[in-house]
Amino acid sequence: MINERIPALFIGHGSPLNAIEENEYNRTWHHIGKSIPTPNAILSISAHWQTKKISITGDQHPQTIHDFWGFPQELFAVEYRAPGSVDLVERVKQILPEAEVDQKWGLDHGTWAVLNPMFPEANIPVVQLSLAQSLGFEAHYAIGQALRPLRDEGVLILGSGNLVHNLREAVFRDAGFDWAVEYDGMVKEWLMNRENDKVIGINGHGKAAMLSVNSGEHYIPLLYALGVSDPDEPIQFFSEKVTLGSISMRCVKFG
Ligand code: ZN
Repeated sequence: MINERIPALFIGHGSPLNAIEENEYNRTWHHIGKSIPTPNAILSISAHWQTKKISITGDQHPQTIHDFWGFPQELFAVEYRAPGSVDLVERVKQILPEAEVDQKWGLDHGTWAVLNPMFPEANIPVVQLSLAQSLGFEAHYAIGQALRPLRDEGVLILGSGNLVHNLREAVFRDAGFDWAVEYDGMVKEWLMNRENDKVIGINGHGKAAMLSVNSGEHYIPLLYALGVSDPDEPIQFFSEKVTLGSISMRCVKFG
């Protein structure tokens, strides 16, 4: 058990295939996993679990959810068998008493497609926290702030989404559209300058922002990682690439 402050991560997860393909993205994730102190547990906030009310996974043997279609059988065969954590569920309930414990949901691909390369041994307990659909961006950020003490208890806060994510506009090309690259760069600047209000308040940022964050759920996990960060902590960026026209693979490490 460590009581060391663990960096917080936002991972741009992209295609579910990043769980098993060898590529530049998951090599980076693997490297990040090795470069930080081994966490006691992981609290994952994935773009792929949206609920009415705030929920946390309570199952001690969370299932691996294959929540995608049209991918190779090999990907459907992946089982990420990390345990759950009663202790972490209790701590989250102390901080967020309104959170409902969900015994059915397990680990969706926003979580395991990242953790499979990052912590392949699957021996660190994992709990997921849902995105409550009734909440606005400010409220998601505020939950992140409330969860900040967990980092000093050896918990890795993992936000898994994509800073720019617009599947309607996605195309098969390596590079990103101008508006996607523009918004990805704008957010990087705001993060570096600690202009958190700009990261949270995307509404005033024009067309690039509207196209980049068209459905919101892949952006919101960034607000959790930002919420648990301290203003004076160092920030590092990884995988600074916009691909498929409209998907940013940017990853951010706070602390
Ligand atoms: Zn996704």
